[in-house]
Amino acid sequence: MLISGVVSAQFAADFHHCNVCSQRSPILKTYLLEAHREASTNPSRMCGAEGKLIAFRKTFEDGLRIRTVEHLLSALEAAGVDNCRIQIENLDDCADDVEIPIFDGSAREWVAALEEVGLEIATDVDGKSCEKIAPHVNEPVHVWKNDSFVAAFPSEVVQVTYGINFPQAPAIGLKWFPTTPLDDLVYSTQIAPSRTFCIYEEVEQMRNAGLIKGGSLENAIVCSTSKGWLNPPLRFSDEPCRHKILDLIGDLSLFAQFGNQGLPVAHFVAYKGGHALHVDLARRLMGMT
Ligand SMILES: [Zn+2]
Repeated sequence: MLISGVVSAQFAADFHHCNVCSQRSPILKTYLLEAHREASTNPSRMCGAEGKLIAFRKTFEDGLRIRTVEHLLSALEAAGVDNCRIQIENLDDCADDVEIPIFDGSAREWVAALEEVGLEIATDVDGKSCEKIAPHVNEPVHVWKNDSFVAAFPSEVVQVTYGINFPQAPAIGLKWFPTTPLDDLVYSTQIAPSRTFCIYEEVEQMRNAGLIKGGSLENAIVCSTSKGWLNPPLRFSDEPCRHKILDLIGDLSLFAQFGNQGLPVAHFVAYKGGHALHVDLARRLMGMT
């Protein structure tokens, strides 16, 4: 099975439980049929290696679902890519679900692939490029649930400050990570290598309940509530916190419209957030809620 489409903002209307980290993760639900026209009439930075850098997309109408898209979306958004043809090959022609490769649970492989193939400015049918527009947040916006929140404040630059708190797993604990203004270098060196994480006992519980199939020590860092990290070393002492920023960028890329930047220019401050709350913020920013 080969699927192709264009990466741009498509709202996730559904979530699934990630097999690796057990978090609820967005599922893409729309397939852009006019992929080539879309790419040529919305000039901006474009992935230059069609077919080499892979891609995905999902068609809800066909009942097809593409899962674990967030790390690829994050790498593309951070690199400024808004038009990119992505193809996914699935060995099982009958499967309703396909997954983007998770690799080591970070976005490092995607960043390396993008750097290898390079980016190019897309042009319209007349060969002209047009300016990419970045949305700005003009007044504070926030969403929250219980003691979790994600907020966006007006700022001259994109910046993210993220806090996590896992008192049940002291090795993760309470951590905050602030990005300096988020640019390609900060993303590729400080955020992209951060792997997804899970708490061993919680994943076991979900697996026993049949909610997930199971993860692997190869594609997540796993922390036990009593024994600490089961597959060290960590790449950063605050790696889980940084990974939350990676996820936030991927989720907010859903905000992109018409070839514009997905990540709004704002200072994002989040505490104990997750995919669902990230997407809630994107919806709020779009005035959907
Ligand atoms: Zn993630």
